[in-house]
Amino acid sequence: MSIVDLARTEIRALAPYSSARMEASGGTVLLNANESPWAPMDGDGLNRYPDPQPRALVEGLAALYGVDAANVLVGRGSDEAIDLLVRAFCRAGYDAVVVSPPTFGMYAVAANIQGATVIEAPLADDFSLDADALLGRVTPAVKLVFVCTPNNPTGNVVELSTIERIADALAGRALVVVDEAYAEFAGSPSAATLLDRHDNVAVLRTLSKAYALAGARVGTLVARADVVALLRKIIAPYPLPQASVDAALRAIDADGLALTRRRIATLVAERERLRTLLPTLPGVRGVLPSSANFLTVRFDDPRGTYAALLAAGIVVRDVGRYRGLGDCLRISIGTPDENARVVGVLAARREAA
Ligand SMILES: *Cc1c(COP(=O)(O)O)cnc(C)c1O
Repeated sequence: MSIVDLARTEIRALAPYSSARMEASGGTVLLNANESPWAPMDGDGLNRYPDPQPRALVEGLAALYGVDAANVLVGRGSDEAIDLLVRAFCRAGYDAVVVSPPTFGMYAVAANIQGATVIEAPLADDFSLDADALLGRVTPAVKLVFVCTPNNPTGNVVELSTIERIADALAGRALVVVDEAYAEFAGSPSAATLLDRHDNVAVLRTLSKAYALAGARVGTLVARADVVALLRKIIAPYPLPQASVDAALRAIDADGLALTRRRIATLVAERERLRTLLPTLPGVRGVLPSSANFLTVRFDDPRGTYAALLAAGIVVRDVGRYRGLGDCLRISIGTPDENARVVGVLAARREAA
């Protein structure tokens, strides 16, 4: 059996839309896609439909993530991959996904849009993921299990051995989707290394965080080739705007990679500096250990702190609605100057308190 046998029958049987760019390539006089023969006033090449899965980008991302090109599907951010997975694997009204709150909200949103049931397997009190507790929540209806590592908004890493245990236990039953949006800040091994041994593992990567391209919307699903082929049937015909493809290629060329490595080092150093500094400031109860590019911080007065930061022009994320995070704000690591401004506002709250 293949993991794709778990997908919706009608999706497996689907004949995908065949776009002009897929049916024919090469040639110099392009009269097959009803495009304008002229370039717009600015933006050379933008009169042409983009390549659905640009070869150079697919190969570059495969090299970046240590897999083969056949294991890569590029789309509009990891958000699109989450949506495609839920739509391909979950029948409305029948199937379910497992999420481990407090975690990224898009998994449940995508499931709700599709009419799939959301089963919660909450993280432990220390926000670690208990594989046995999670497996105990899996019913025959579950097709996808989402694991976020480092987890947003708690920042902790889920060990590869835990993910492998879950994948082992769910072999032939469900696909384990590992969201590694912040992996570059953690330095721990990717779950993509499990693909050879486990056909029911899929990994989400993105250029939105470490690679500074949130505005370009470029995310990657890394999975077995048959899962990639399945999702290619339902992805939009031209998911990637040409300008985003060009920006992504620059971000992962030699200069781009070198710049990103330096920036990651700066952000990680700032994160560790703030992690020890913040608890010495008035009104700070503690800082959750984080392997991501943010710190989730407990405050005596989180709402007042939020307002004080906002009054200084600094916007952070109020994560108080999450279970176990009622007194928390999530603060992205900024430039050293930006971080100094945060520290300045928090230090000044001594007088206010
Ligand atoms: C930011 C983030 C993403 C990235 O989503 P994109 O659509 O690629 O921008 C994915 N997962 C988590 C947990 C995130 O925090």
